[in-house]
Amino acid sequence: MKDLQPITFPGIDPKKPLIIAGPCSAETEEQTLDTARQLADLGIKIFRAGIWKPRTKPGGFEGVGSQGLKWLKKVKEETGMYVATEVATHQHVTEALAEGIDMIWIGARTSANPFAMQEIADTLKELNADIPVLVKNPVNPDLELWIGAMQRIYNAGIRQLGAIHRGFSTYGKHIYRNMPQWHIPIELRLRFPEMPIICDPSHIGGRRELIAPLSQEAFDMGFDGLIIESHCNPDCAWSDAAQQLTPEILNFILHTLVIRDSKQSTENLTLLRQQIDRIDRELLEVLAKRMQVSRDIGRYKKEHRMSVVQAGRYNDVIRTRLNHGVEMGMGAEFLKTVLLAIHDESVRQQIEIINDRTI
Ligand code: PEP
Ligand code: MN
Repeated sequence: MKDLQPITFPGIDPKKPLIIAGPCSAETEEQTLDTARQLADLGIKIFRAGIWKPRTKPGGFEGVGSQGLKWLKKVKEETGMYVATEVATHQHVTEALAEGIDMIWIGARTSANPFAMQEIADTLKELNADIPVLVKNPVNPDLELWIGAMQRIYNAGIRQLGAIHRGFSTYGKHIYRNMPQWHIPIELRLRFPEMPIICDPSHIGGRRELIAPLSQEAFDMGFDGLIIESHCNPDCAWSDAAQQLTPEILNFILHTLVIRDSKQSTENLTLLRQQIDRIDRELLEVLAKRMQVSRDIGRYKKEHRMSVVQAGRYNDVIRTRLNHGVEMGMGAEFLKTVLLAIHDESVRQQIEIINDRTI
């Protein structure tokens, strides 16, 4: 995906993070316009509202449908904001474009479906559309599926193309509604450095109090913007009530966020990075030394006809190192991953020795 263009509109500074805000759903004309007016007064330039809502189960509020397009048109005329909505079918795209929607996004349940993505892409091509399109990550943590969804839109000729990171579903209860799995959008960034990535802390967090820390994390990782749900009366929202903020709170949060300049490089930073490079080399040398000892142990076990893995020893090693590492200020989950990976490699090396394979 080459020659992508930045996502921006006249009157919006392309060097600043893109901020999109608005209710999860347009519910009534009054709620839509009330929220929009408040957001516009606070300087928000792009308004979001879902009118076709893909709900997990039937019976929930499935959006007001096409009549909501008229309300969004009013928002545009009255406040001067640009308006964005979610599309999932040929009919949605056709109607949204006909009614002057400025930007569309594709939801997480739709981006997981190649047939739906192709239908949207074909419609955009047929209409010769030239508007920004944002593609949310699919509900499941599958980077290739996400990239594939964006490629279909790209192949339809869209160049103002961006990704929305909204977290990934898991089974069971967690502090997040959808797990952030930050390494997935980061890998996307490494593979397509030109692709803008917008974070959706509302759907990741699922709770108001998580919006600020998640937004800050996104900026710390160099994301290009935020899409945040905001409602004039969040507690009474017809969908996603727990995660919506009043425009006032949203404004407060936006002003507390620290936006870092990822391009600026100072002399001190270079020195610190050199330090990291040296430490990483040392780490690898220590690890290689450890593997050497593992191979010696392998030789001993071979001579004495012992099995490679001895459960008691293994549990002991993990437990003591884990406690030690936690005392040194590292996270238990991180330590577990590292220690298990080191142990797996040691076992692999010992098996090679036992089977007489040279390494
Ligand atoms: C939404 O943006 O309101 C929405 C339905 O989000 P998602 O597709 O991320 O669940
Ligand atoms: Mn929502």
